[in-house]
Amino acid sequence: MSDTMLAAIFQGPGDLELERRPVPQIIAADDVIIRVGAVGICGSDLHALHNPPEHPGHPGVIFGHEFCGEIVAVGPAVKNVAVGDSVAVDQNPPCGRCGPCKDGRPNFCEPLFDNPYLDYAWPNTPGFFWDGGMAEYVKVPAYFTYKVDPDVPKHLIVLAEPLGCALNAVNKVEPMLGEHAVVIGAGPIGLLCIMALRHAGVGTITVIEPSETRAAVALEVGADAVVNPITQDAAAAVRERTDGKGAAIIIEAVGSQLDAAIELAADEARIAVIGINSAYHASFSPITLTTKELRIVGVFLMRYTMQQALDLIQSNALPLERIVSHVLPLDQVQEGIDLARRGEGLKIVFTPNGSATTKGSN
Ligand SMILES: [Zn+2]
Ligand SMILES: [Zn+2]
Repeated sequence: MSDTMLAAIFQGPGDLELERRPVPQIIAADDVIIRVGAVGICGSDLHALHNPPEHPGHPGVIFGHEFCGEIVAVGPAVKNVAVGDSVAVDQNPPCGRCGPCKDGRPNFCEPLFDNPYLDYAWPNTPGFFWDGGMAEYVKVPAYFTYKVDPDVPKHLIVLAEPLGCALNAVNKVEPMLGEHAVVIGAGPIGLLCIMALRHAGVGTITVIEPSETRAAVALEVGADAVVNPITQDAAAAVRERTDGKGAAIIIEAVGSQLDAAIELAADEARIAVIGINSAYHASFSPITLTTKELRIVGVFLMRYTMQQALDLIQSNALPLERIVSHVLPLDQVQEGIDLARRGEGLKIVFTPNGSATTKGSN
């Protein structure tokens, strides 16, 4: 193996560049080195690359936080995985030892949120604050990794963390058989929520999405109807589909649509807000919450849903193949980012060490 590798470096807002970097070496006893099989682009990556930035990051680090691959070296203390294992990576894993972790609140883990570069609590995620997976090799502590079936394509394994976040949202709204659900936004996270809600047995899923391309995919992965909020009255359309009652379950996967979510909620509806938009302020009147007895829950990261996501991926229970729009080599990282920025692709995945898959790369 060569001493250097190709890596996509986060140079600061708006700027990502390919460079040769040294291949990481085992230093700590619990380090593992992973030969990266696949690394995805996430909405947060685009926010970090936005100028001015909409997500924090530390210039100079290797970008990419959604990655998986094969273990090529382990430190002397590593027991859970071995050289040759295929692994998924939880890039924001709970330490398991702090107060919140012991209380069963892994996504409030104190060391995870102890970020050396920020003066507020924020996940210290590889790919934003230390070297991530947009490279041929990446080093993480062994407890970040989960052993997976080597025969499941890496461009699906890499969906584990976004799916785990979607499952956190779906678990929180406690879907029941036959209920009417609405998903606002059919980007990758919205689409994963649609698949999970369908798998959980809800009755109907109405999706609110202005993009025709995304609307078509939403229908393919489990939505019953898509409403275009620009040309249609979304709340009226949902009432029409639910005998005037409104939706029992709403997942807000945009970040700026809480007012719309409240407008189409049935009495006692459960609303999960997973979309992120720090610039948005809602304007609903709280009396609606009181009189309808609504329950609004925020969803941040995963809550012990990584293994649940991996089980769903490896059992082929969800039509995940449909949301991976592009699998590209890492030297096309700029093209991939541009596709994502233009909203042309869905999940865009790079294979830094090459792959037989050429999906969407034409
Ligand atoms: Zn992400
Ligand atoms: Zn912890």
